Amino acid sequence: MALRHWRRKLEQIPMLFAGIDLTTSPNIPSALALLDSSLRVLHMGFFHSEGEVINDLRGHGNCLVGIDAPLSLPTGLCCLEETCSCKQPPGMKGRICERGLAKMGIGSFFTTKSSIIKGMVYRGMTLKQELLSHGHLALEVYPYASKVRLFGKPIPPKNTGKGRNFLKKQLSTLIPSIGRRFPDLDHNLADAVIAAYTGYLYERGEVEAVGEPQEGLIFIPKKNVPRKEQVINDEHNPVSPHRNSGKGH
Ligand SMILES: [Zn+2]
Repeated sequence: MALRHWRRKLEQIPMLFAGIDLTTSPNIPSALALLDSSLRVLHMGFFHSEGEVINDLRGHGNCLVGIDAPLSLPTGLCCLEETCSCKQPPGMKGRICERGLAKMGIGSFFTTKSSIIKGMVYRGMTLKQELLSHGHLALEVYPYASKVRLFGKPIPPKNTGKGRNFLKKQLSTLIPSIGRRFPDLDHNLADAVIAAYTGYLYERGEVEAVGEPQEGLIFIPKKNVPRKEQVINDEHNPVSPHRNSGKGH
């Protein structure tokens, strides 16, 4: 479905923002976060199968889902199998969006036949189709790039104590309730929150698209996105997704 058509369709519907930190296999839990348009956390948890995500989003209307995984293949490739004769044009490696990020000094895995995250690429592409068929919209996001744009470099490694404290502090400046409600947020869930937040920025027109639409875009926050002062206390005023969740802009 074309973006513009999708947006028109959603004009009257409260917008929710989901973020997914996708793993390479359904055997390894993937993180899912769901925010409303006032940045209240409606859901935070893990899922295994694509069907579980669809279930978790059921009853939340059409969601804008930011997925941390490649959602497309490089031009010229029909798959990532060495046994297939498909190949990229000579001298090309990975997708334009990935090369674009590299030029910005933001490293990422390049999508190639020798990718170590092949399973995640196939899963991401399947999940995207599954979400679209249920009326959601899926955007490719890259939480590390979002963090660089929102928090600046250096970003301490996320699996260290220093990295966790950094993330907790920075996330609280975006979503004030998060530190109180989820004091021990693990880095996968934190990335899911960042992915959802990037979708929120997309809706506000505060993202930049890296890459070419025909091949696949990664959405990252624009430079110097202003931090909105959010006076929200969802700890004491839990909201249902169907209440107070109109577009906040
Ligand atoms: Zn192929």
